[in-house]
Amino acid sequence: MSFDLVIFDCDGVLVDSEVISCRAHADTLTRHGFPITPDGVLKRFLGVSDREARRIVESEIGRALPESFEAEVKHATLSFYANDLSAIAHVGDAIAALTLPKCVASSGTPEKIHHGLTCAGLYDQLAPHIFSAAQVKRGKPAPDLFLFAATQMAARPERCVVIEDSVAGVTGGCAAGMTVLGFYGGSHCTAEHEAMLREAGAAITFADMRQLPDLIARAGQKHGSIAGFSPV
Ligand SMILES: [Mg+2]
Repeated sequence: MSFDLVIFDCDGVLVDSEVISCRAHADTLTRHGFPITPDGVLKRFLGVSDREARRIVESEIGRALPESFEAEVKHATLSFYANDLSAIAHVGDAIAALTLPKCVASSGTPEKIHHGLTCAGLYDQLAPHIFSAAQVKRGKPAPDLFLFAATQMAARPERCVVIEDSVAGVTGGCAAGMTVLGFYGGSHCTAEHEAMLREAGAAITFADMRQLPDLIARAGQKHGSIAGFSPV
């Protein structure tokens, strides 16, 4: 057997957006008296929630960031997208080669997902099957968004394969009872990234989107074996 649905995360899987997000944070933080480089943002705040990052910054500068801080970061991110956002290498070809139904499940707002996919030239390949955390109660690492996407696409969770680049996303896909492939080819990924995705439960990890169609086929065979699924 094979899978009935492929669910793609967006940031770091379809669009190479994490580096841009770091730049937007670095610019905005620097303007507000916390000088930091994009690389510094990556090193200090990757995987840290926005709330916790804000608490750290505020305690270091000794005052609160303005109410508008998040809106400013968002504005900077979207304006960088237009000129600098690219698709993850070869992902367009990989999507085109997949004959299975596919959709997107992203923690971003609908506006950000739409803008990102459009700037990267991927929107037409995936629309209208694009789901946002805004449509569910709990975002990743909860399984809600993956389960919502599966329901909308009329697929059973155990027949879905998820492509994710973050620990929170891999955790959420596994919690939804889906097979998760961990991608670590985004330009923000460090050497430890692959091991983190495996620890979170990724059945297979890979860094080159040209491998994706074969890996999905391989994972599907394992998944359907008489002995049941075992990690590849
Ligand atoms: Mg991601």
